[in-house]
Amino acid sequence: MNGEKIRISNIFPDELIVPNNPIITYIEGDGIGVDITPAMIEVVDSAVKKAYAGKKRIVWKEVYAGQKAKRLKNDYLPEETLYEIKEHVVGIKGPMETPVGGGIRSLNVALRQLLDLYSCVRPVKYLGQPSPLRHPEQVNYVIFRENTDDIYIGVEWQANTPQVKKLIEFLRKEMNVDAKKIPDDAGIGIKPASEYKTKRHVRKALRYAIKNNRRVVTVMHKGNIQKFTDGAFRNWAYEVVKEDEFKDKFVIEGEGEADGKILFNDRIADNMFQQLLTRTADYDVIVTQNLNGDYLSDEAAGMVGGLGFAPGANIGDGYAVFEATHGTAPKYAGKDMVNPGSLILSAAFMLEYIGWKEAAKLIEDGIRNTLKENIGTYDVIRELSKLGIKGYEVKCSEFAKEIIRRM
Ligand code: NAP
Repeated sequence: MNGEKIRISNIFPDELIVPNNPIITYIEGDGIGVDITPAMIEVVDSAVKKAYAGKKRIVWKEVYAGQKAKRLKNDYLPEETLYEIKEHVVGIKGPMETPVGGGIRSLNVALRQLLDLYSCVRPVKYLGQPSPLRHPEQVNYVIFRENTDDIYIGVEWQANTPQVKKLIEFLRKEMNVDAKKIPDDAGIGIKPASEYKTKRHVRKALRYAIKNNRRVVTVMHKGNIQKFTDGAFRNWAYEVVKEDEFKDKFVIEGEGEADGKILFNDRIADNMFQQLLTRTADYDVIVTQNLNGDYLSDEAAGMVGGLGFAPGANIGDGYAVFEATHGTAPKYAGKDMVNPGSLILSAAFMLEYIGWKEAAKLIEDGIRNTLKENIGTYDVIRELSKLGIKGYEVKCSEFAKEIIRRM
């Protein structure tokens, strides 16, 4: 079957036009990429075949980045890779070794800039994996972390440099900042929070909540302290939910009856961290800035047993790149040992994103049923043994087959 390109709707940038034989680009990834990527493709192909009886099929197109690209193309990040991912709208990638020694562009940064992937989206769900919680079944979150604003922009000045001294002088003299607040030996980082970037991110989360029949959207921030960044993020989010597109579909906490609508509220970050543990079931879709989202998504992943089953995606207007959330685990590379769960669930999320929900559900069912029988890779077995449960250890490739068998 020849593949066709996925297109982005001209009218609604969040909507895709997906053929029955979409071409999807993939990057194998460094390190354990050689183990988990083939496992992911096998599971996805089986789920799609089973869900649509052969009427739909993904046509995979490998593009190169990282070590494999260096080997084959003598370039860690060839221009054609970026071009191909853009051209085909949706892609999935294995983990990439962070470039060492300078001079190598980061793939994630390049893709984020080129495709303006402004929301990092992390679904966190309990599928039976060994968890430290007593009621992990209450965990079913989708965390929207803003990807382009905040302290992450990397505009910083090192302490005691001429640049930072100049900035400190400016802040004291021109902006009347008390010298006690910013002493002579301080380094300084800039934290922007912009209305445009906040609002497009919040709109994406609200649209997701509507489309996927979610119950609650919570904005998490530290606006009580950082009034003009986190506080502004919160206030702009409230402006968005009152827009025509959303106002009839959401009810703001404390402002009326739910009446079948989605509850919209906000929580201060420190409270939110403890509430995920103490009032786990109260949360659903969570919208955050960059730094808060970074912390919170790993906390949530930890609640259901860690990063082994934590999928992720970077999404912009239509364009989306799905990825495993863990790294390249070099000591296990090529040993057919590691857990492919994070990449497989990222692929399930990708299927949901292109509207192939039936296939996504089959994958989740397959994982759930496999874990129910205490079958897993070494990391799953290690966690089970901590709970006093005997498990059956399988290799990475075998785990994929066990999932397929139980879809
Ligand atoms: P890592 O690759 O995530 O591995 C750390 C540990 O996590 C492993 O030793 C292993 O723990 C466990 N682990 C990771 N993936 C696993 C899997 N699929 N199945 C089972 N266990 C798994 O983190 P790192 O060692 O800090 O980073 C290695 C490289 O990856 C670095 O170059 C880093 O920059 C890069 N990285 C890339 C990404 C990305 O591309 N998105 C993300 C993070 C890190 P045990 O040995 O205890 O079992």
